[in-house]
Amino acid sequence: MRYLSTRGHADRKRFCEILLEGLAPDGGLYLPESYPRVDAAALTRLRQVWQSQGYAALAFEILSLYIDDIPAEDLKALCQKTYTAQVFGTREIVPLKPLQSAGNAKPDVYLEALSNGPTLAFKDMAMQLLGNLFEYELARRGDELNIFGATSGDTGSAAEYAMRGKKGVRVFMTSPYGRMSPFQQAQMFSLLDENIHNIAIEGVFDDCQDLVKAVSNDLAFKRQYKIGTVNSINWARLLAQVVYYFAGYFQATTANDQKVSFTVPSGNFGNVCAGHVARMMGLPIERLVVATNENDVLDEFFRTGVYRVRGTADTHETSSPSMDISKASNFERFVFDLLERDASKTQAIFGEGLSREGFFDLSADPRFAKAASFYGFESGKSTHADRLKTIQQVFEQYGVMVDTHTADGIKVAKEHLNPAVPMIVLETALPIKFAATLVEALGREPNRPAQFEGIEQLPKRVMVMNADVAQIKAYIAAHCD
Ligand SMILES: *Cc1c(COP(=O)(O)O)cnc(C)c1O
Repeated sequence: MRYLSTRGHADRKRFCEILLEGLAPDGGLYLPESYPRVDAAALTRLRQVWQSQGYAALAFEILSLYIDDIPAEDLKALCQKTYTAQVFGTREIVPLKPLQSAGNAKPDVYLEALSNGPTLAFKDMAMQLLGNLFEYELARRGDELNIFGATSGDTGSAAEYAMRGKKGVRVFMTSPYGRMSPFQQAQMFSLLDENIHNIAIEGVFDDCQDLVKAVSNDLAFKRQYKIGTVNSINWARLLAQVVYYFAGYFQATTANDQKVSFTVPSGNFGNVCAGHVARMMGLPIERLVVATNENDVLDEFFRTGVYRVRGTADTHETSSPSMDISKASNFERFVFDLLERDASKTQAIFGEGLSREGFFDLSADPRFAKAASFYGFESGKSTHADRLKTIQQVFEQYGVMVDTHTADGIKVAKEHLNPAVPMIVLETALPIKFAATLVEALGREPNRPAQFEGIEQLPKRVMVMNADVAQIKAYIAAHCD
């Protein structure tokens, strides 16, 4: 298996070469040269693997289709080490929960629980694997990596919990001082591992991102201190997410002639892009429904064919903050497929068009219609009022508490139901992470998993700094040996 860039660069790379890289050299995103097809016999075999050996074995089977430069025994061991009941809370790892009304023969929708990992958001599903892959590959090369990133919440803590105590890896994570929820701050700042550095910046999230850009643009510094990232464009993260689409499908169906649909709360289009890959492999997915919040760039595209990125000033701060995205960093992967892998067109609209015009328009391109008709995409959006109402309804009707992002998914899913096809909504976080909005909706605190009792009182390790590039570089340099 070789990987190519969506913008047409001539290089073809193997999995471990792109594992530690971000963008391709031409600014594109990596994708496999072609998607391995899972035919009926292979799907039957994968269902058996899932049923008899569970999630880690299924992950190994699917990853093996894309990774041919890690020996099979090693890859298998990495999957077994990552997906354990101890880390993810249940033997199923991603159990399916039916939301069924009294008197109905069938569930209205299913929730696929992806948020029982260490940081209670679905990002753990990929990040935990990435931590183990990084440690493995860095040891093999005798190299090290310093991850420098910016977070407004979920990504940073998932990365830190995945990399803590890992050999060869350090994490320097900036976050806007005082702006994450108290629970999120406690989660991150209570990590005392030596290789984890929390840097709270006097400023907003964009100030943190500007620091990351400034450091990344200093190529000499970047090389000297082996600076890398773990952002959502990393192909390994996306690949890890493909696995739970298969696991969801096997739980919702009994035979391979049945189809399911998925609704995915979306921001950077990483999660739902993994669904697209699963569907391209041949998993019987009827619809992939993209659910956005008030930041509706993706919904607008699927409705109109116009992709119009928003500036920082036009990005709403919402009560589903992990979807407050005005430019979906993974979207280029899908558009590349939609354009029948026309790299020069992809380069023209994402490379030049977007930076010059701030939008592109595919409404007149005959290929746009295939987003729905061939690739199965639909979309919808949800607002703060929808979110509160959905959280209340789901609690009253099914006795289940959902977080704000999952609520956006359920709201949109219910607008796209087909009685013949089960609808699976991906549960992207647990309610305790967004307690303030749950209290607003239900008048009570959400349940707190036992291992998080009292985390706000734990000792914290965090540096508070100004948004000053020189100061940050000095801090990194001082902590790199
Ligand atoms: C990151 C995140 C999302 C958005 O996922 P994308 O892959 O960026 O589309 C949705 N919900 C939660 C809770 C998240 O942390």
